[in-house]
Amino acid sequence: MLPVRINTAHLEKGFLSYLSGMLRFFRLSLLFISFSVQVQSQEPDFILGRSNGVLPYLEYGLGADRLGGAKMTYLDTGVLIKVIDSTVINYKVKLSANHLAYLPKTSFLRNDSLRAAPYYLSNSWKVYGDERYDYVVLSLEEKLPYRSIQQISPSRIVVEVFGVTNNTNWITQLSSAKEIKNVYHEQPEDDVFRIIIELKHPQHWGYRIYYDNRKLVIRVKRQPEFLQLQHMRVAVDAGHGGDNNGASGIKTKILEKNYTLLMAKELKQALLEEKASVLMTREKDTSYNMPDRILMLQQEDPDFLISIHLNSSSKDSIRGTSTYYRYIGFRPLSQFIYREMLKTGLPEFGNIGSFNFALSGPTEYPNCLVEVAFLSNKEDEQLIRDPAFHKEVARAIVAGIKAWLESCED
Ligand SMILES: [Zn+2]
Repeated sequence: MLPVRINTAHLEKGFLSYLSGMLRFFRLSLLFISFSVQVQSQEPDFILGRSNGVLPYLEYGLGADRLGGAKMTYLDTGVLIKVIDSTVINYKVKLSANHLAYLPKTSFLRNDSLRAAPYYLSNSWKVYGDERYDYVVLSLEEKLPYRSIQQISPSRIVVEVFGVTNNTNWITQLSSAKEIKNVYHEQPEDDVFRIIIELKHPQHWGYRIYYDNRKLVIRVKRQPEFLQLQHMRVAVDAGHGGDNNGASGIKTKILEKNYTLLMAKELKQALLEEKASVLMTREKDTSYNMPDRILMLQQEDPDFLISIHLNSSSKDSIRGTSTYYRYIGFRPLSQFIYREMLKTGLPEFGNIGSFNFALSGPTEYPNCLVEVAFLSNKEDEQLIRDPAFHKEVARAIVAGIKAWLESCED
């Protein structure tokens, strides 16, 4: 269970708007306390520090539904952060003259010895490849915040670096780069520098953004040379586990965590029959939190990820299957799987985009969340309890993956 907003959403919302009102009040008080010294001495009204800890991320705003505010980006550690305001759990961060974001307080390490320059210049770039990846490496004077988006038709990765003014007069491009077709840049605002990376293939296979000293690195995954499942390393994630039960069945109280695992194991089996290699996030009833799952997946860097959950709604009439993606470049995988899931006879709940599920957040590899059916609906629950249905779901997901891989051949 993850996506359904129907469940008690109205209650949470009422409470949250009260809470956010209170937060605004406290924020002002905190601001006064934190900044009174600086204000009195006419110092700049911000605090400098660096991103820190496990998986720091920026959010667009203070939106708070079940899965948290809309994420702007994961951020490397050590990135220069300019804090201008504060809520109970977040810092308000100034990215550039016109752009703000929010950073969890636990992801910020204050450093009073830092000084902010009025602007930072971009220097030369290098574009090249090694055995597995292409790289765009851009020299900067400081580790500055960034965000990225995926574009399709044509397929492009667009990275914006905040606080940077163009001084790039030299872009070396080596023939070892295989997936990157073109790179160029724009300066949409005086202090926002935009890097555009055109890909050769329509399908996005993922990328990672990080700093190597003060060099910003965008590591781009190539389309695999052979697109059959036997050449793929597939990550399979069984939702929940251990002390995290997920949802429970309306009639029999069966637990989501047990049935996601049964289906994930069937999927593993079906993938092994296709000679794929399979990486499971869990194979037992173990607790495994989201940041640790993400770190493991980023480390292992599979070709793509399938995450399995079971849905739940406060309305017991709601049923059906759904697939989810976060980034448009990863949508096709979720569409092909959705199409096959509908063939099992489950009614449609939707193919859902911009989804703020933690495991849809990484940009490193295509990923798809499958919410097989609803535990809160009697008919769906009965299917979920049926071992033959688990095999059917596994077959449908594999058929979706194969159709997707074939579509990438064009
Ligand atoms: Zn779930």
